[in-house]
Amino acid sequence: MDVVVVGASLAGVRTVQALRRKGLEGRVTLVGSEPHLPYDRPPLSKAFLLGEIDDSSVALLTAEQAKELEVELRLGAPATRVDRAGRAVQLEDGGRLPFDVLIAATGATPRTVPDRHPPPGVHTLRTLDDAVAVRDALAGGPRVAVVGGGFIGAEVACAARTLGLDVTVVDPAPTLMTRGLGPVLGDVMAARHRSMGVSLRTGRSVSRWRGSSRVEALLLDDGSVVAADLVVVGVGASPAVGWLHGSGLDISDGVGCDATLRATGTDDVYAVGDVARWHSTRYGGALRLEHWTSAGEQAMAVAATVTGTPTVFDSLPYVWSDQTGGRLQIFGRVLPGDEVVFVSGGPGEERFAAITGGQGALHAVVAFNALPDAMRYRKLLLQGAEWVAGRGVVQS
Ligand SMILES: Cc1cc2nc3c(=O)[nH]c(=O)nc-3n(C[C@H](O)[C@H](O)[C@H](O)COP(=O)(O)OP(=O)(O)OC[C@H]3O[C@@H](n4cnc5c(N)ncnc54)[C@H](O)[C@@H]3O)c2cc1C
Repeated sequence: MDVVVVGASLAGVRTVQALRRKGLEGRVTLVGSEPHLPYDRPPLSKAFLLGEIDDSSVALLTAEQAKELEVELRLGAPATRVDRAGRAVQLEDGGRLPFDVLIAATGATPRTVPDRHPPPGVHTLRTLDDAVAVRDALAGGPRVAVVGGGFIGAEVACAARTLGLDVTVVDPAPTLMTRGLGPVLGDVMAARHRSMGVSLRTGRSVSRWRGSSRVEALLLDDGSVVAADLVVVGVGASPAVGWLHGSGLDISDGVGCDATLRATGTDDVYAVGDVARWHSTRYGGALRLEHWTSAGEQAMAVAATVTGTPTVFDSLPYVWSDQTGGRLQIFGRVLPGDEVVFVSGGPGEERFAAITGGQGALHAVVAFNALPDAMRYRKLLLQGAEWVAGRGVVQS
């Protein structure tokens, strides 16, 4: 069996490793658009920006390990097209890779705002090259503006403050990390950022950049100006599906898949990681996650299916973020309108755990420096615990 995995990062690497562990023989090719050997992204917005680690600490797969696995690496060679009828992937460098099974692991690419070519000094943070550029810029002691107060934006803001720099975060939502945490817990984390000295301009969006040869400032929608020498835009990412245009696959918001991560309407194409939108049996609908842990778990599920054990992917979503001097962890999903009940500690404390839920069901467990407390409730989450309005989960 010839397997071609497109996307040489976390999901792709974990897939080829799992395929070999499960005894897959035959040719395995891992195709990556970046020139670097596969590396891990979470440290890029954390220890890497602080200069605590360098690129040698983020390796996911060395050339020697690839050789041992008998995986052929095609790096710096973006896939540009898929010939489904001819069962082959076309590469930008002219290569053509025939496959029996194709696995899409191309992740996501960052969005930017405002939607036009920004001046130098405006960065996104997704790749190792991006992280090197931001880290080097931080070393010059700039005034920093972060556009987007999601997880990555919040981590960048913390790193810059830890380096002693002036930092302003701009986000149209009422608080930080609203999508991941909801407004109540978002506010708790926003207060931690403020107490670190991060300036928050929430409820505001960026209308324009100021500066032509270099960025000088952001102009906000209320007419106010945020002076900045370095801008990091963290406003989310879009699934990297450009290479699948014309393939006939469903690629609206990632590659549409069934519950086993097999692309809808195919028997030889799968998707894993940030690019996969699959039918979640847990939530009873389509889901696409941009979480490190699910990328690895999906890789194992797909490897099992491809090697003959059809496996439904149904893990509990989990994401962590290191910021304001601690680790934030979310099990499950905080849904819009969720009530929040603190089960240990509380807002303003150095550690807390909270549960969120509504409409009769516990939805998420959120912990800050409080993993043991979270683990008790994670178990209840897995058991499908009931939510009682105003009280949360009632334990017998
Ligand atoms: C800065 C940062 C910090 C993060 N921190 C956390 C964290 O703390 N906790 C957490 O849970 N998650 C975190 N994440 C998310 C996590 O890193 C992702 O969920 C994970 O990287 C997904 O892996 P992936 O392999 O699906 O996609 P990606 O890591 O995006 O890899 C996809 C790869 O495919 C390549 N590719 C794209 N198009 C093509 C093509 N046409 N041909 C060939 N190759 C292609 C890309 O270049 C890329 O190397 C973070 C992400 C970033 C960017």
